[in-house]
Amino acid sequence: MIELSQRLTERSQPLHIHLIGVAGSGMSGLALLLMGMGHKVSGSDRVTTAESERMQGVGLIFSSPHSAAAVKGADIVVYSSAIQPNNPAYAAAKKSKTTQLLRRAECLAAILHTRKGIVISGTHGKTTTSSMTAHVLREAGQKPSHYVGAEIPILGANAKWSEDGEFMVAEGDESDGTLALYHPEHSVMLNIEAEHLDFYRDLDHIREVFTQLANQTTGKLVYCAEDPVAHEICAARENAISYGWEDADYTASDIRDLKGSSAFTVKRRGEVLGDVELGIPGNHNILNSLAAIALADSCGADFTLVARALATFAGAKRRFETKYLSPNYRIIDDYGHHPSELAATLQTARTLKPKRLVVLFQPHRYTRTQALADDFGKVLQGADLVFITDVYAASEKPIKGISGATLVEAMKLHGDIPSTYVPDLATAHHAIGHALQPGDLLITLGAGNVHEAGSRIAADLKILEEMRGLMPPGEIDGKLYEPMSRHTTLLVGGPAQYWMEPHSFYGFAFLVDYCRERGIPVRVVGRGSNLLVRDGGIRGAVIHPMGGVFSEVSVDGRGHIIAGAGVRLKKLASIAGGNGIGGFEWMEGIPGNIGGALRMNAGAMGIEMFDQVVRVTFLDEDGVIRTREREEIVAKYRNVPELRRNFALQAVFKGKNDSAANIKERWDASREKRKASQPIAASAGCTFKNPEEVPAGRVIDSMGLKGSTCGKATVSEVHGNFVVNQGGASALEILTLIEFIQGKARNERGVELETEIKILGEEEASF
Ligand SMILES: Cc1cc2nc3c(=O)[nH]c(=O)nc-3n(C[C@H](O)[C@H](O)[C@H](O)COP(=O)(O)OP(=O)(O)OC[C@H]3O[C@@H](n4cnc5c(N)ncnc54)[C@H](O)[C@@H]3O)c2cc1C
Repeated sequence: MIELSQRLTERSQPLHIHLIGVAGSGMSGLALLLMGMGHKVSGSDRVTTAESERMQGVGLIFSSPHSAAAVKGADIVVYSSAIQPNNPAYAAAKKSKTTQLLRRAECLAAILHTRKGIVISGTHGKTTTSSMTAHVLREAGQKPSHYVGAEIPILGANAKWSEDGEFMVAEGDESDGTLALYHPEHSVMLNIEAEHLDFYRDLDHIREVFTQLANQTTGKLVYCAEDPVAHEICAARENAISYGWEDADYTASDIRDLKGSSAFTVKRRGEVLGDVELGIPGNHNILNSLAAIALADSCGADFTLVARALATFAGAKRRFETKYLSPNYRIIDDYGHHPSELAATLQTARTLKPKRLVVLFQPHRYTRTQALADDFGKVLQGADLVFITDVYAASEKPIKGISGATLVEAMKLHGDIPSTYVPDLATAHHAIGHALQPGDLLITLGAGNVHEAGSRIAADLKILEEMRGLMPPGEIDGKLYEPMSRHTTLLVGGPAQYWMEPHSFYGFAFLVDYCRERGIPVRVVGRGSNLLVRDGGIRGAVIHPMGGVFSEVSVDGRGHIIAGAGVRLKKLASIAGGNGIGGFEWMEGIPGNIGGALRMNAGAMGIEMFDQVVRVTFLDEDGVIRTREREEIVAKYRNVPELRRNFALQAVFKGKNDSAANIKERWDASREKRKASQPIAASAGCTFKNPEEVPAGRVIDSMGLKGSTCGKATVSEVHGNFVVNQGGASALEILTLIEFIQGKARNERGVELETEIKILGEEEASF
């Protein structure tokens, strides 16, 4: 290794070094260091990613996919642990007589050896502590190089080569035993627990590797006195320096919990060094900062500068990282994936005093999920509401019977905290975002890609809160990812991205304006009694006018009825009847609202909406509220084209004065007719428009299609034009049945059946 370190530092002879799997965070860090040292660095990966593009911007020669040609002429080839022997670049490098082939950790160990190396090791907290240590040394003027396992905004990047500094801080990965390769000047041991049991036999095996690192550390060995295994390995050594709550060389006392950060007094062997305000919350982070303080002190850093640096430390990405913060909600993301890490993170989250602590956990690796299921079940009791996704495999093969559901079951053994298995991470945010209430703190937890769910919710929540917050309180209500199956009479449909309920014309107009300016699609929905929403839900805002002016009905001095768009047809008919105004009885059995019925020009018993409309007030395409008289509006059979883009807000209707007895007679007749001719099961009314020549129901009946099914979707036996949901049907099943009927009618009867129901939304969720 000494020889390799010498080759790496020979500035007059830059090497050509190629990295296989360069886009991974550990490998990209190495590339940055090697480029900083003046070498010609190339790298390859399976696909081009944002990371590979970023690296190209700073000088990396990138190629994709992996190839033998990419390593041609390289002096050194470094490969990541994910690379298989049949990788063409790896195979070519192995064959070459002039190329030195290195594992990632071997290369890092050699680089570390060119400086006074500081290795931060331990089961939990390595990235935070190594970035904290690099940051405090830098702020104390030591100009360290660094290499850590994640992007650290405050450090600029996950790795940096510093030309002048004498120290290099590196996060030591214990997962595959390569920790034993390092011969650092100083080491830190944070904690040592049974982890990575896919590689290690047991805790003793892990202890051996840490002991070897301790043996190979020539300078100071900083360790946590609170951790029994670290204590056992280090305490008796001459070069050991301990930190902890009491009984240690460096201690923290008089701890003050500030929302989102903490303050404490640092003592060195009983003598007060000074106060620290740490920029990140949690007792575990106080311990991590003590490690950085003890180390920096050993390197001769001035405590005042160290304390100042800790106050500005903003934390690593994915380490209790705040993704969204408003007076109502907070979303935090954390990389924790081991029970102890989860426990510490949940405890920290509690110090922020949320009304409810909601957790989305993505288990990481099947082996860990299986081995530690019981512990996970226990620590997750620290939340108020838990969602668990499927396991992030991290290149492992699945283990039969092990999934996110394993942990939901484990939770049941330890308490009654509600937990839900949300297998698919791509749509998990729908259930969680929908469950969020003001005052909630949501944490996404896990080492895989669970943070993507938090990012999606954060982006959508920002828009939702803006839509609600820019209007006076009470004007608009709204929710994320409201299931449309709750708002359609067919009882199917995926979520609405933003479900918005304005209660005034002004609120409605504001929403339309807001969405148009930002390119957010807008849909307006009434009772959903003429809708089929696809299973992927509706992207954008779904506006449902209700409450306030939209739910009001009044009768004016001329006997005209004024009704808001959110009023049910049945209510309109009933109020009309109560005021001795007849002609609306046909509406009693139509389950829609005024807005939807105007758009559809709904009708029954030979009468349609626009026979009775006097004028309509609507919101036009430019966001202007206008009123138009009946004569100015073209109304067709089950279609008012003008209301396709303009939204009905309110309408005035006229009827005829009539006796209560006559009104009741027509009302009852309508009811009897419906009872006899329509199914009771969930439907959206008539599925197809009636072709001119023959009613759609009769065509379907004549082809013998009554009773046809697709899954839980069925053609009603009572009325051939009704496709019904027998309970639990998907939109896809209903659509498949509709297309089947259309195909048959076309081929067997030469009839084109056009759907009367409106079909909205996406086949698969894309938001
Ligand atoms: C059991 C049953 C029986 C039925 N019987 C009949 C019947 O006899 N006659 C009949 O005509 N229909 C019937 N229907 C269909 C349906 O009830 C009507 O079309 C109803 O008027 C739709 O109103 P809605 O509020 O449910 O509209 P929705 O289904 O919510 O929406 C329908 C369409 O109108 C649009 N829309 C909604 N609100 C507005 C607005 N404010 N401004 C502009 N566009 C808007 C929507 O975007 C959508 O395109 C029946 C349905 C069922 C389930």
